[in-house]
This record gives sequence, structure tokens and C-alpha cells, in this order.
Amino acid sequence: MKYIFKILRYDPEKDEKPHFQEFIHEPCPADTVMEAMKDIRDQQDPTLSFRYSCREAICGSCAVVINGHTTLACLQSVAALGTTEIVIEPLPNLEIQKDLYVDMDPFWEALEKIEPYIHNEGEVPENGHEIDEAEMDKIYQFISCILCACCYSACPVASRDGRYLGPAALAKLYRLVQDPRDQRDYTSWRQVNAEDGVWGCDTVFKCNDVCPKEVRPADGILALRRKIFVSELKHIFKRKP
Ligand code: SF4
Repeated sequence: MKYIFKILRYDPEKDEKPHFQEFIHEPCPADTVMEAMKDIRDQQDPTLSFRYSCREAICGSCAVVINGHTTLACLQSVAALGTTEIVIEPLPNLEIQKDLYVDMDPFWEALEKIEPYIHNEGEVPENGHEIDEAEMDKIYQFISCILCACCYSACPVASRDGRYLGPAALAKLYRLVQDPRDQRDYTSWRQVNAEDGVWGCDTVFKCNDVCPKEVRPADGILALRRKIFVSELKHIFKRKP
């Protein structure tokens, strides 16, 4: 079956603004959108630019918007879209560098701000740190993040406030403060106790809807809010004579 692929094109060296280009392509019945994009590039236009690597929802590099839904191109089957007209656009909230290829720097910069590594100055035990199953259960959901930026791109707060840390960074912070090996103290996650941190979230849960790995980053943001709130209360009561 023939499909029309309308793909957003933009070459900053040639184009004044982004525009759609149509390609007619007949994918194999089981093809994903990414396989179709690769075939279009290989057979029709070698200048078509997009990111991809693992092709199995592990690297997180092929995130795009397909018929209005933010997802991984390697996860989305063409046939399952139920239409022969497929519109592919780059991730919103991130500047287009070329075609479907966006500048991920704001996303990485937000992640860097939360210091996304275990804070532990102590000696590593001879057999490594051990974490029991109950503690693993608390963070397992958040470990699955592949840093694809689908949530950041779908977030209405990130679209209007470039300072907002965004769902992925905040969910990652929650994953770390819940980890028994992480010894960062209250002051380090206090940095996110701000309007451009946890309190900036509008709780519209777009991030939960689009996350291809079911991380549900908004769950982490709300849990961080509770932790910060409880810590604040403890400080207030401690200060009382
Ligand atoms: Fe992607 Fe989900 Fe991680 Fe956001 S939380 S970066 S949508 S995997």
C-alpha cells in the first residue's frame, strides 16, 4: 500500500523557515516509521536528516512527533497508525538544527543541573553496595528512562519557560534521592525547591502520556514535592524553641 509521508524539512543554510515535503512511499507491512524514514532517505532524498541508532527503543535518539503524537519512530508501526497520510515533525521545545534533527543541549543542561550521579563519598564495600528488593522497587520505574526527551518536548511548561528543569531531569533526581547509596542531603535537592524546579509543573501529565518507557516522570515530580514539603516542615519544627 502506498503512503504519503509529509515530513518537516528545514535547512538553516537554505530555507527561511521550516516547510513540509511530501514523499510517496510503499513500506513493507511490518515496517516502523523509522524504517520508512530510512528507506525514503536512501531511495528518494539522501539529504533527509534525522537521528537514530539502536532501532529497539533503547538509545532514545529517534524521538519525533508522528501525526501529532510524540514518540520513538522505531516503536511506531506504520500500519498501526490507521491512515495512509503520515505527518512527521521534529520534537517541539528544542531548536531545529536540520529537518528532524534538534538541538538537545537545553535538555542535557537541565539534566546536568540535578547532578545525575550517585553522591557518596564513603568507601565502596568489598562486595559492592547491596540494595534490597523493596528499595529497588521504589526506583525501578525511574531507572527505565532512556533520555529520549519525549517528555521534555511534550511539556507545556518547558515550552514557555526555558529555565524549567523539565520532567526527565526531575524524575532522575527523584530516582537518585530514593537510592539508598545516594547521600546527597536536603540542601542539594533544595535547589529544585523553586518555580523552575518541582513547583513549576502544571500537573497536566503530558509527560506521563508520551513516555515510551512508562517512567511516568510526573509521579517523580509529585513525590519530590512531598519530600521537600515534609523536609520544610521538619526544619520549621526544629527551629521552634
Ligand atoms: Fe524519555 Fe520517559 Fe525518560 Fe522522558 S522520562 S526522557 S519520555 S524515557
